[in-house]
Amino acid sequence: EYYLDNINQKNPQLNAFLEVWPEEARAQAEAVDAKLAAGTAGKLAGMVIGLKDVLAYKDHALQSSSHILDGFKSLFTASAVQRLLDEDAILIGRQNCDEFAMGASNETSYFGPARNEIDPDRVPGGSSGGSAVAVQADMCLASIGSDTGGSVRQPAAFCGIVGFKPTYSRISRYGLVAYASSFDQIGTLTRSVDDAALLLEVMAGPDNFDSTASQREVPAYSQQLEPAPHYRIGYIKDCLERPGLNPEIKAATENALEQFRSQGHVVEAVDFPYLDYIVPTYYILTTAEASSNLSRFDGVKYGYRAPDATDLESLYKKTRAKGFGPEVQRRILLGTFVLSASYYDAYYTKAQRVRRLIKDTTDELLRQYDFLVLPTTPTTAFHIGDVNKDTLAMYLADIFTVQASLAGVPAVSVPNGEDSAGLPIGLQILSGAFREEQLLAFAKAVT
Ligand code: GLN
Repeated sequence: EYYLDNINQKNPQLNAFLEVWPEEARAQAEAVDAKLAAGTAGKLAGMVIGLKDVLAYKDHALQSSSHILDGFKSLFTASAVQRLLDEDAILIGRQNCDEFAMGASNETSYFGPARNEIDPDRVPGGSSGGSAVAVQADMCLASIGSDTGGSVRQPAAFCGIVGFKPTYSRISRYGLVAYASSFDQIGTLTRSVDDAALLLEVMAGPDNFDSTASQREVPAYSQQLEPAPHYRIGYIKDCLERPGLNPEIKAATENALEQFRSQGHVVEAVDFPYLDYIVPTYYILTTAEASSNLSRFDGVKYGYRAPDATDLESLYKKTRAKGFGPEVQRRILLGTFVLSASYYDAYYTKAQRVRRLIKDTTDELLRQYDFLVLPTTPTTAFHIGDVNKDTLAMYLADIFTVQASLAGVPAVSVPNGEDSAGLPIGLQILSGAFREEQLLAFAKAVT
């Protein structure tokens, strides 16, 4: 009732939830009460959770904040969501995001932007913007989002909460709407690292419905949050010298590194010569994958269908022209271009090779160091309308989050103070693949 009240009061302005399920949530809460009394309640008993509008939940609307999925309802439940339900979580509603998770401000949503509670004229970040605001504004305890190139970490940084993306393949993607399949991971937005650990523990693990999900055993992350006394921490010097990095974020990052040093950790500058290539590589590969993934939305099988088609081809064209927003269309065009016969080798194949180089170098650094530490974002939350007209500026702002995505390694954004205007700053920590327990333990110690 507390969260439902907050939603009633705040959501009309903040636009974090697209849909709320009060009756179902109450019924789930009652069922959990009974289980608690009987001593049979699951690990998430009583946790009130919101779902980004990219996660399938049987018989519930699923739209990826796009017009093209108008009226579509899920035919099945995502494995990760099912695992939440099996542990007695209470699901409270569906959350606003950038259209098909393409964006960094929530402004590409068909339903309009979600707004940052700290200053509603500012963006909450994206693409999991609604999910971040929902936690920030106490409309739910935790949100489940998705992160392809920073979509849980960047909005967490803009909203002053914890955003966690696990190793690629740690959580099954079955029932997650595909944007770029070799990058997409389900992640969490929470107030505490403990909650992130508990949710990961519940959602992670092998899944018969996703052959790419890792077969590795799932540690009891929530029970292993004791940090080691000394870590080896690297930071990429070029990141802090980047033009466009807000000086207050630079100072906050340097302060954090200094503090780690004074706590007895080894803190060293490392070389990573590929910073200029990570954003182009990310956008070539993700748009290529997106152009293929989104070809299924053709007006025949899902949601919206253009009413004035005259034959099959015009049905496809009209449906996709009216159903997809401008950012999604731009990415489908770009992706189709880089995959076209005459450009495939020049762009797609080359980007694959650069990705391998970035991944190998990042993996090697994460063998030499327990963690890499860097800012989550170059700026704090910007004003609605400020950046979204400049597509390239928007893409370049992903500079610090996409490295972990290209490498497939886990990464977390934790709050690291605020700027002089009171806007939150995020600190990002990366660890080697499948070292989530170590990463979460350190993140907990930092928060
Ligand atoms: N801003 C990045 C993009 O637009 C990341 C989005 C995401 O992680 N889903 O692709």
